[in-house]
Amino acid sequence: MLEVKNLHVEVEGKQILNGIDLNVKPGEMHAIMGLNGSGKSTLSNAITGRENYSVTKGDIIYKNESIVEMEPNERALAGIFMSFQYPTVIPGVNNTYFLRAAVNAKRKYNKQKEYDAANFLKFVKSKLKEVEMDSKYLKRAVNEGFSGGEKKRNEMLQLLCLEPELAIMDETDSGLDIDALKIISKGINNYKNKNRSFLVITHYQRLLKYIEPDVVHVLIDGKIIKSGGKELALELEEKGYSWLES
Ligand code: ADP
Ligand code: MG
Repeated sequence: MLEVKNLHVEVEGKQILNGIDLNVKPGEMHAIMGLNGSGKSTLSNAITGRENYSVTKGDIIYKNESIVEMEPNERALAGIFMSFQYPTVIPGVNNTYFLRAAVNAKRKYNKQKEYDAANFLKFVKSKLKEVEMDSKYLKRAVNEGFSGGEKKRNEMLQLLCLEPELAIMDETDSGLDIDALKIISKGINNYKNKNRSFLVITHYQRLLKYIEPDVVHVLIDGKIIKSGGKELALELEEKGYSWLES
């Protein structure tokens, strides 16, 4: 699904990622853990193609094709999704219109019939249930006045509507109370299947109580310095990161 090869990324002239290797197979969930500032969001931004994140060396292969030259929207149409660490507020843009435009762009790309307003409402309401969101959030502007937890649920709602094959969750768990954390985890677990992969970025082990990554990677100073199974996350919780440095 995703192969990251010796990836070097520069942001504003500063080298942030120094040779990342990752291989995520269909159906796998990989967790990336690391202290603040280690480069986790930079990795997500590089995979989704955010501007100003330039790949200076190495490659990102998605479904057997290099995507480094592709525009962010092309990557999204091809099935990559990212849930932002800090979801953006879009004043004046209705949440339902926003979602429908995104979903219809994808349906058009996949040569499927686009949803009209009534059909889309039916579709989105079934997804709302999964994230236990009230339909009043559909009428509001995207993330405007949403609490931290509501924004993260709205991100999860976008994921469920867009049905990506590769979902990158950038600290979707941070700032969530325990109920919201359980809802998000349940959403992830229900969504995951043998054809869909997840890259879950977190620096808390608590999310990993509810979801089971196949592989856990530790990112320090723009490099993956250790990979292991779920037990690695427990070890980090216990010992912190310092034993891995130097
Ligand atoms: P993490 O998500 O692991 O906390 P980030 O990827 O956000 O880490 O940041 C890694 C480093 O890259 C930090 O030193 C940060 O200041 C820097 N960085 C990230 N994005 C930018 C940017 N747009 N401009 C300048 N520096 C950036
Ligand atoms: Mg981050």
